[in-house]
Amino acid sequence: MRTTALGAAIAVAPISFSAFGEATKATVKGGRMRLSFEPYELKLRHAFNLARNKRTTTPGVQVRIDLDGFTGYGEASMPPYLGENVASVTEFLSKVDLSQFADPFRIKDIHEYLERIAPNNRAAKASVDIALHDLLGKIMGQPWYKIWGLNPDKTPNTSYTISWNDDPAELQREIEECAPFKVIKIKMGVGHDKELVEAFRRFSDVPICVDANQGWTDKNQAVEMCNWLAERNCLFVEQPMPKEMIDETAWVRDRSPLPLIADEFLQRLPDVRRAAGAYDGINIKLMKSTGMHEAHQMAELARALGMKVMIGCMTETSCAVTAAAQLSPLVDWADLDGNLLIANDIFDGIKIVDGKVTIPADRPGIGVVPLG
Ligand code: MG
Repeated sequence: MRTTALGAAIAVAPISFSAFGEATKATVKGGRMRLSFEPYELKLRHAFNLARNKRTTTPGVQVRIDLDGFTGYGEASMPPYLGENVASVTEFLSKVDLSQFADPFRIKDIHEYLERIAPNNRAAKASVDIALHDLLGKIMGQPWYKIWGLNPDKTPNTSYTISWNDDPAELQREIEECAPFKVIKIKMGVGHDKELVEAFRRFSDVPICVDANQGWTDKNQAVEMCNWLAERNCLFVEQPMPKEMIDETAWVRDRSPLPLIADEFLQRLPDVRRAAGAYDGINIKLMKSTGMHEAHQMAELARALGMKVMIGCMTETSCAVTAAAQLSPLVDWADLDGNLLIANDIFDGIKIVDGKVTIPADRPGIGVVPLG
């Protein structure tokens, strides 16, 4: 554990997720925020196939901010394709000195400060933002859906992801694990695309959504796939083509019966308007948006532009997934299954009840409790 409360001073001590130590009185006594962090590798329950890689673990960094007996929890999850890693995140966090902020509620000032430290580093910034939101919610004694004025009954169903597996028994196991879910996300772009949909359709008729993960490079093929999927109860297609193929994606959108959703194409708030030129909607993820503050702005802007909104996650613990769930009453579709994919979660938070995202009731902040 390194603590950066004193700027350059780095102390090493074990992080304690089981020590609650949170104050029950909603008062801040004029202390200063102290940020601490620790790498935590997530173990995947099953190897994860994507269009461009396959992995069995994913790196993460757990973060906490302490202030006057309140503790806010945050997390950075760094899938290899987004360019951050444990070294870059810990280097960034080592430079963060939150003790300079006398008022923890200056969220915008704190974000401006994080931007001045270094560009990019979005997951690192998200980890600070999530911990800050958790801290502020606990000080106020309220969950973030309530602070944002959202109705927790309006959370969507979450999708659950399956991908192609060359081992028929493994594929069957994947498909059978989908049974509790009301929407299934099918990862495509690794070949066997139609075969995978047909294998699933023999098992279930629940709606699917498709994530091509930039895997379709021919615009005519992309339109053909959209038409084929539309006949098989598919809700939308996520990132059909490589993110650089903007004109081709717009061409496909004009011909596709299904909405096209931007994922890899889009990271932060200014990208939302750009996405409107080629996509019908956006997939917001906290690790791309630098956390909850900007994710909320992105969802509101996309809504104002008449776009569809989806909230997704990386493979991460219930900490970051539950933080994303706070925003989910604002979106059309949720893809919040990241915590279900790991074997070593260290938080209790979001629940999926009858397929639906369920935000923990009566828990302030982001709504998580560390597992002892
Ligand atoms: Mg995606």
